[in-house]
Amino acid sequence: MSGLNAEFIPPARPVIGEAEIEAAVRVLRSGLVVQGPEVKAFEEEFGELVAGRHCVAVNSGTSALQLTLMALGFGPGDEIIVPSFSFAASANAVRLVGAEPVFVDIEPDSFCVDPEAVAAAVTPRTVAIMPVHLYGHPAAMDRIMQIAERHGLAVVEDAAQAHSAALNGQPVGSFGTAGCFSFYPTKNMHSLEGGMVTTADPELARTLRLLRNQGMEQRYANEIVGANMRMTDVAAAIGRVQLRQLPEWTEQRRANAKFLDSKITGMVTPPVADNAKHVYHQYTVRTQGNRDAAQKRLTELGIGNAVYYPTPIHRLKPYLNEDGKPGPWDLPETERAAAEVISLPVHPALSPADLERIAEGANLAGGAR
Ligand SMILES: *Cc1c(COP(=O)(O)O)cnc(C)c1O
Repeated sequence: MSGLNAEFIPPARPVIGEAEIEAAVRVLRSGLVVQGPEVKAFEEEFGELVAGRHCVAVNSGTSALQLTLMALGFGPGDEIIVPSFSFAASANAVRLVGAEPVFVDIEPDSFCVDPEAVAAAVTPRTVAIMPVHLYGHPAAMDRIMQIAERHGLAVVEDAAQAHSAALNGQPVGSFGTAGCFSFYPTKNMHSLEGGMVTTADPELARTLRLLRNQGMEQRYANEIVGANMRMTDVAAAIGRVQLRQLPEWTEQRRANAKFLDSKITGMVTPPVADNAKHVYHQYTVRTQGNRDAAQKRLTELGIGNAVYYPTPIHRLKPYLNEDGKPGPWDLPETERAAAEVISLPVHPALSPADLERIAEGANLAGGAR
């Protein structure tokens, strides 16, 4: 093993290639730079990824979530069920509209929200469920949709990490009332910054379009109070280039994961649920030994690694009670995952030699004390 002399393998590698640069320059020269023809084309093309749903482009994944909750009319007094084991944006969107996140536990295998915990968390104030397709693994949407239908709840899929993931052949972002995607540089595809809301409901799509642009469809004929969450045409042009490469990148991520699954024995590799298509935004293992020592060893070996997420959302400062303590949440699998996980590089730019080194490194680091 080449060890310390080998080049560092980064945990993620956002692509800004010649095609992306050319697309951006073309838009800049055209002078049509905000919510113009590129945004419209990007929305139409993205629809193919979500079974032909309406697509509404915005300026970030967080905006996609916030705008959706605004469009559905949620606010103070409403409860929205969300996993605590996620990026803070999931719960932040809930708080940004004045609603309350109700944190529920995850399934240990998929790292996604546990449908039984969701069912148990429903109260008369619940208005929506927000499953997160964490690391690119689809949440148990079949069971979550059943719960939502039984109680008349909206479902807002946080698909920020899961472009083209699927369950039973159905793509994420096409199950719920709405799906929300992110195009941040480290995601499976990017537009520098950007996001997309997907929905089958044309009325909801129209409301989203109004809300992202000051409540206007026609200029200065404002219909409702809205925000400015528009996507630029530069972002859309870059997103379109990336969207064309997504299928190939996704297959490469899945092939990389398959290789790591077959070689890693020193850590617990990520299981995939039956009928799930995992798109490996992250390749996340569990350490059985000392995680800090394992991370230190990986870094020494030149293998990029990171913990998503070391602190579950319910333990972050804005979500603590006034006394500075976490609420009365009982989330044992969330706590265990937060203490055990490490994400290893799985991005499409890895070479066969990189993959060998990652697997060997993981096996060595797995025994670190
Ligand atoms: C990245 C991410 C978001 C937010 O997307 P941005 O484009 O960064 O605003 C929301 N939820 C999850 C799970 C994410 O990973």
